[in-house]
Amino acid sequence: MSDAWEEELLAEPYRIKVIEPVRRTTRQEREELIRRAGYNPFRLPAEAVYIDLLTDSGTSAMSDRQWAGLMIGDESYAGSRNFYHLQATVERIFGFPHVIPTHQGRAAENVLFTTLLKEGQVVPNNMHFDTTKAHVLHKGGRPVDCPVTAAYDPTQPEPFKGNVDLGKLEELIRTEGPAKIPFLMVTATCNSGGGQPVSLANLRGVKEVASRYGIPVFIDACRFAENAYFIKQREPGQAGRSLGEIAREMFSYADGCTMSAKKDALVNIGGFLALRDEQLYREASVWAVLFEGFPTYGGLAGRDLEAMARGLEEVLDESYLAHRIGQVEYLARRLLQAGVPIVEPPGGHAVYVDVRRFLPHLPQGQFPAWALSVALYVEAGVRSVEVGTVLAGRDPATGDHDYPRLELLRLAIPRRVYTQTHLELVARAIIRLYGQRDRIKGFRFTFEPPVLRHFTARFEPV
Ligand SMILES: *Cc1c(COP(=O)(O)O)cnc(C)c1O
Repeated sequence: MSDAWEEELLAEPYRIKVIEPVRRTTRQEREELIRRAGYNPFRLPAEAVYIDLLTDSGTSAMSDRQWAGLMIGDESYAGSRNFYHLQATVERIFGFPHVIPTHQGRAAENVLFTTLLKEGQVVPNNMHFDTTKAHVLHKGGRPVDCPVTAAYDPTQPEPFKGNVDLGKLEELIRTEGPAKIPFLMVTATCNSGGGQPVSLANLRGVKEVASRYGIPVFIDACRFAENAYFIKQREPGQAGRSLGEIAREMFSYADGCTMSAKKDALVNIGGFLALRDEQLYREASVWAVLFEGFPTYGGLAGRDLEAMARGLEEVLDESYLAHRIGQVEYLARRLLQAGVPIVEPPGGHAVYVDVRRFLPHLPQGQFPAWALSVALYVEAGVRSVEVGTVLAGRDPATGDHDYPRLELLRLAIPRRVYTQTHLELVARAIIRLYGQRDRIKGFRFTFEPPVLRHFTARFEPV
């Protein structure tokens, strides 16, 4: 074990073998670039961005072992050796004997939901991720979020804000009737709640409720390793266990999982559906063939399967996770020390700035979190993402903006990509903006698309 001063320094547990140059721009260039992008950071060419914190999805840096694995990709149509490697790895980590690779996480949702979910049925989750919710709706189902109340309070520093409210869950099962609920889902960590973890005790509780009514449980496992690390750090009695043991126990309470390998499998594309039951696996394989391809490749090349298997072998490494979660905590701490309001505690993959408190002079109708993301780009070439009024869209009934409870700026940290100095630059840029926050102006639409408006909209300063 390292000493306290070493831990505090948070030195990277890897060294650099290949570099990707990133270009720094001048403030004048950035003012022109963002103006030409219609003040929409999604419309910026990535090469005009110095530090890209848009998402942690598919943006990981692969290791030398993963890159080497690409060379032994077996591109056979059926039964590629890389599939067997992936299957053995998934069985060892998650305890599920059956795995169906998919091209990404939402494809695993599509295969599972097509197999199990009928029109008019209800799917409970701590909080549905956007694609999960959309797939439930697409099948004619009704997604219901059952998180603990603390999940909605950005100032309450609870250790497991991703937990399911077991009382609410059981009440829902009773009122709807168990026959209407084909399965329960738990998202770990809970992305829509800010990357907050779920405790082992809570997963055990979900399993108990589910067993009482004979309902299967599936985990949305995108950030399972980050969740396991939080359990080790925060849950009483878990500090002495290995992350592998904790992960194995997490999944022992489930019948299967959906996975986006673009997160905790440390690859740029991929996903899978893993299952305990052979009969269910056979039924799901039928749909997998239709949507994704033969069930031993699932929309991926053999080399992608190999990189995924190797990423899963690396992601539970304790020094990696201590650094990964440590980076997020470091950025959060730097901002808090300077008085910048953020959602507390920070989650596993991102820091969320609480923009209602950062820019109280801007009305929500002038898109404060959007304005802050533009200001941060102009200040330092850092791309972040608004999770606020622009993202929320319009209320179909009234036609007005569907003003969300929280107006947030998300700084998602890609895995193994940026150094401490990069994060320090991000912190200093935000702290500088906080010092001049009165000068930040709001925005209005010059072009507003009818759906998913944040991706392609254009704006002008008010
Ligand atoms: C990213 C994500 C998904 C969907 O995965 P994709 O690979 O983007 O299709 C599902 N659930 C959660 C919690 C996610 O974060």
